[in-house]
Amino acid sequence: MKQKDSNKRIAIIGAGWAGLQTASSLIKFGFDAKNIVIFDEREKIGGTFSPDCSYTDLKLHTPRLAAECLNYMFPGDKDTRATAIEVYRYLESYVDFVGIRDIIKLNQKVISLEYNSRSKKAILILEVKSYNKEGGKIIKKKQEGPFDMIVYSSIIGPANYPRFVYAEKENEQRKFEGVIIHSSQVRSDLVDAVLRENKKVTIVGGGKSGVDMCTIFCNRGYQTNKNINWLYRSPYWFAKYEVFFHHRSFIAQLRAFLLLLTFPFFCVSSDFALFVWWLTGCVIRMPGSSLKYFDSKRFRFAFLDENERRAVSMNPPIVGDPVGFTSGGLKLKDGRVVLSDVIIFATSYKVGFSSIKILKDDCEVDPQIFNKVLYDHAILPEIPCVFIGHTFLTCNGPLRGVNIADYILHYLERQSSLTEVDMRTKANKLQAKHWTLGNNALFTSEFCYPKELMTVSLDFWLLGYISLMDLFRYYFNLFVMGIHKLPPRFSFSKACARN
Ligand SMILES: Cc1cc2nc3c(=O)[nH]c(=O)nc-3n(C[C@H](O)[C@H](O)[C@H](O)COP(=O)(O)OP(=O)(O)OC[C@H]3O[C@@H](n4cnc5c(N)ncnc54)[C@H](O)[C@@H]3O)c2cc1C
Repeated sequence: MKQKDSNKRIAIIGAGWAGLQTASSLIKFGFDAKNIVIFDEREKIGGTFSPDCSYTDLKLHTPRLAAECLNYMFPGDKDTRATAIEVYRYLESYVDFVGIRDIIKLNQKVISLEYNSRSKKAILILEVKSYNKEGGKIIKKKQEGPFDMIVYSSIIGPANYPRFVYAEKENEQRKFEGVIIHSSQVRSDLVDAVLRENKKVTIVGGGKSGVDMCTIFCNRGYQTNKNINWLYRSPYWFAKYEVFFHHRSFIAQLRAFLLLLTFPFFCVSSDFALFVWWLTGCVIRMPGSSLKYFDSKRFRFAFLDENERRAVSMNPPIVGDPVGFTSGGLKLKDGRVVLSDVIIFATSYKVGFSSIKILKDDCEVDPQIFNKVLYDHAILPEIPCVFIGHTFLTCNGPLRGVNIADYILHYLERQSSLTEVDMRTKANKLQAKHWTLGNNALFTSEFCYPKELMTVSLDFWLLGYISLMDLFRYYFNLFVMGIHKLPPRFSFSKACARN
């Protein structure tokens, strides 16, 4: 594919694995590298896995093979899990391998986007961070663009806390006397201090990062039942790592294949599908109060290995709803108090895109547009030069960037013939209507992840972008054969014929 209009420019916000893969695929597909720029507010590339972002001991929960960029092998045993630093090093070498270092602008935070509906282009306002000789931070503003397409490629955003924490943080006379921290900020110095001073830690949140926080202390032999309180509202479900990522014995492959065949059950009844997976020993539920019901919304398709499952079983949880602080800990809705010196909120992230100020023709846009379904699950019809990467759920790991690049090139060719009204009408016809910028399985616990994956894929199939056979082949290769080389192929010929 050759770039038709060599004047078109693309900005990618985020130098995580998806942003890097999107840029290199655009170039591979014929887009001129000099017309692409990647901005990242951090000092290093790698996003979630960069040293300035990742919490201590962070490891992939998926195998190395699922973290591979296109045609660039991840070193080491492909069935094992890499640490964050290994992922970071791998991405660093990938940047040199594909020659995109020059187009990455680090320490540059996008704070505002100004769209012009006549030209259908947008400019970006950035804060550029640098340091003076004394090491003092200098922030300068600058403007970049205009761009024909802006790809927002970030899953991590600002730390997300329950509402009462913000009040406590702002309050000049804090009630709680200990340390309040988000899981993403947990580094080895904090862990060492906890161990040294024998502090009582409360971990809030039962998702994967909650499990990781428990595992950090458990791996260091900390007396978990005495010193750790693990608090969550209701138990989560996790997939067993070795069932989905195995060493391909005949039995393991057969089991993974049968599992794959039950995937569509999630579309019909996700609770029933989860029940089947539980019966076959493929998923586990966190210890909790009672086996009330199979709540598939608490299944986010995160994987736990044996070591993590051991850590989980050693931490009897407290099931309860935190509503505020006392001087010595956390107050629960039912009146109980959980005594703590350090409270770690493993309560995920906010949608980062929401912190970018958006102007359209010099007026601030109505934030309501962010609650609406996106055109092709990626484009805001009201600002049609913005592509949202995290809602475009096509496959695992960086390979999503290949689909994004493919889609963007197709979209740029058709963009001039699309009107906002048309795009909004088509967006509203999608099956996954609830799947919006912030209301999706990545940011809320209101959705069962495999079910959403199926529904979004169904939309792509109905749009004519993807064949169900390609999708099945992709997951068959990943879970049964241990191959993750090609994403499900996006093809636009059928879709174009229809428009
Ligand atoms: C703790 C954790 C563990 C995970 N483990 C796995 C796993 O094992 N396997 C898996 O498949 N998925 C995993 N995920 C999910 C997801 O795939 C990863 O988060 C993945 O790194 C997402 O890649 P990305 O490129 O989309 O963006 P991110 O990794 O989120 O990187 C985005 C980058 O964008 C930058 N950015 C954001 N906003 C701005 C702005 N306004 N201006 C400039 N720069 C900006 C950020 O600084 C960041 O560097 C994990 C997620 C988390 C949070």
